[in-house]
Amino acid sequence: MAHTNAVFVVAEAQNGGLATISAELLGAGRAIANALGGPLVAALVGHNVASLAAQLGELGADRVLVADDPLLADYQVESYAPLIGQSVRSLAPAAVLLGQTFTGRELGPRLAFDLETAVATDCVRLSVEGDRVVMAKPVYGGNAVAEYVVQTSPQVATLRARAFEPAAPQAGRRGEVEQLPVQLDPAALRARVVETVRAASTGGPNLKEARVIVAGGRGLGGPENWRHVEELAQALGAAVGATRAVTDAGWVPASLQVGLTGVTVSPDLYLTIGISGAVQHLAGITGAKNVVAINRDPEANIFKVARFGVVGDWKQVLPAFTRKVQELRGR
Ligand SMILES: Cc1cc2nc3c(=O)[nH]c(=O)nc-3n(C[C@H](O)[C@H](O)[C@H](O)COP(=O)(O)OP(=O)(O)OC[C@H]3O[C@@H](n4cnc5c(N)ncnc54)[C@H](O)[C@@H]3O)c2cc1C
Repeated sequence: MAHTNAVFVVAEAQNGGLATISAELLGAGRAIANALGGPLVAALVGHNVASLAAQLGELGADRVLVADDPLLADYQVESYAPLIGQSVRSLAPAAVLLGQTFTGRELGPRLAFDLETAVATDCVRLSVEGDRVVMAKPVYGGNAVAEYVVQTSPQVATLRARAFEPAAPQAGRRGEVEQLPVQLDPAALRARVVETVRAASTGGPNLKEARVIVAGGRGLGGPENWRHVEELAQALGAAVGATRAVTDAGWVPASLQVGLTGVTVSPDLYLTIGISGAVQHLAGITGAKNVVAINRDPEANIFKVARFGVVGDWKQVLPAFTRKVQELRGR
């Protein structure tokens, strides 16, 4: 399909505000829109989200399309995809950007299919060559980065959380806000959300969005030692992560598992204790900016990716380290 130079971002709301990913999508979208010389358009779908439109303008959207309806309160691909698809069709943007989130990982491929184009998921870098967006994503468990160019239009990409610099709000900047007409037939929605069960909170920051993560592995020796990981995490204001060896053994809930078959994280600091650094674990931390490892085996694979490492028994290293952090942060 013939396309304009516009970039279309599918923003997300969360707990009555904008989800963190929205500012990251707008940051990435702005760079692409500038390179293509087109406008940046944001869409926001949900219920009671109209008041968030102005924030999207402050974050750099030139136009904001809002679909607000009680039937859109819960994300459902059957209601969201046609609505967003229709706007994308009429705007014919060069690129559509979504988050690699619960919503985006379903909506992105579905939109691409409906629009007879293709999607690159879990992208960590975008650039522009000519009138095409080059989308880069880690492959082979994070051991290589592949670059994709979608030949059809629009090019659809889902972006990994915390892989892109969020747009900084510019107070007073305004986007042109437009309400999208919503005509949904409740009977046409084949699924209904009956109950939402929140995962038990660890008390610390959300693992996927955390800037600092303390992760523990089998080297801790047993669930009775897990409190040492939590103590350090608490002292650092960090989230807690774990390897699959630990979650499979039932020491901690599976939701804390980082890696290929767990959560993908991109913290500034990822501190590991008793983790060997198996490729499946490392696949989840390719976006970590600094890895620090405590492991008693100098040959452990984790040291290949660690910026700083301590070769030693955690029982000797960790309590003193945690005490020092408590001391310094308590001051
Ligand atoms: C298909 C598939 C998918 C997988 N997905 C994932 C995934 O998503 N995430 C994941 O984590 N794993 C995953 N795995 C499992 C992965 O291969 C490893 O088995 C796992 O990551 C190992 O966890 P670990 O590092 O805690 O344990 P280990 O490999 O047993 O390492 C323990 C480390 O602790 C060190 N240690 C021991 N005692 C001490 C001490 N006192 N002080 C300091 N260091 C000590 C040891 O030297 C060792 O390096 C997957 C495997 C498969 C096959």
